[in-house]
Amino acid sequence: MINENIINKLILYGCKILRNEFLSKYCSFKIGGPADFLIEIPNEQALFIFLKNIETNYVLLGNGTNILFSDKGYDGVVLRLTGDFNKIFVSKNKISSGSSVLLSNILQIAIKNNLVGFECIAGVPGTVGGAVYGNAGSKDEWISTVINDIEVYKNLKKEIIKKEDVKFAYRKSNLENCVITKVNFLLKKKVKNDSLREISKNIQNRLKTQPLDVYSAGSIFKNPSGISVGKLIEKIGLKGKRIGGAQISQLHGNFIVNTGGALSRDILSLIDLIKNEVKKRFNINLEMEIKIIE
Ligand SMILES: Cc1cc2nc3c(=O)[nH]c(=O)nc-3n(C[C@H](O)[C@H](O)[C@H](O)COP(=O)(O)OP(=O)(O)OC[C@H]3O[C@@H](n4cnc5c(N)ncnc54)[C@H](O)[C@@H]3O)c2cc1C
Repeated sequence: MINENIINKLILYGCKILRNEFLSKYCSFKIGGPADFLIEIPNEQALFIFLKNIETNYVLLGNGTNILFSDKGYDGVVLRLTGDFNKIFVSKNKISSGSSVLLSNILQIAIKNNLVGFECIAGVPGTVGGAVYGNAGSKDEWISTVINDIEVYKNLKKEIIKKEDVKFAYRKSNLENCVITKVNFLLKKKVKNDSLREISKNIQNRLKTQPLDVYSAGSIFKNPSGISVGKLIEKIGLKGKRIGGAQISQLHGNFIVNTGGALSRDILSLIDLIKNEVKKRFNINLEMEIKIIE
């Protein structure tokens, strides 16, 4: 629980405080019970007040496209960065982006300014903060390639971390205990048409291979080096398998979809089933790509 004095202080700093807010509204799986608090923070001053005073658990939420919340909800605060964190500035070949900016927006701005480097995130439905935290991208190209530095709050201090000082790997960074507030990207000026062709190819490929008309959280598992988890799941014959309202996509084996009314436990049961079968058949331990918040 949060002390009412802190709540009042946060309201004075422009925060929006929602109590018992259903998390299903804020994630692409459309699953999740109520959080004790969902707090929207509009600027760095308010963020600092929050971090300084908060004594309960909290979790950061971007666009909720790589996350599974529990049906029981969240015992603590779910934090969303809004307002100033949605701002973007462009100067020559640099883009400075608040962490809540949607990837689709930053991609559009880059195209308008003849800047290339974001092609690998075309069609990824997250925010800049979520994408940098999880090093989003395509199979071989990641958003980290075009980062110059990252502004974060860590242990109540603001830090600017150079890209070289962050450990990025496939769908992974070591930014675990950081609140990412801003990301400064360094891009290349190039002929717009080359970039547009690549973006169009990526989107066409996504439309063919991913179930985009149903609720999901993207790929459930990380692909082990050189191996497609989707193909393994297909080989085992689990595509289309249903538990409750959840189903392993017929189109892409590494996607689990909410066909309507799925509970988090339905998704978790399918995850366990896949993990066990893949271990049994191929002796591979699958690693989660989505974040499970319980
Ligand atoms: C249909 C579909 C297709 C997808 N395709 C791809 C794809 O091709 N490639 C790919 O990489 N991903 C893909 N994804 C997954 C997802 O869109 C990306 O991982 C995205 O980067 C997640 O961003 P988000 O803002 O939604 O993060 P969230 O899901 O909100 O959060 C994910 C994690 O990031 C942390 N986080 C969020 N914001 C911050 C912040 N400001 N500071 C610190 N930590 C933060 C959260 O705490 C959480 O741990 C897909 C998802 C869907 C639904």
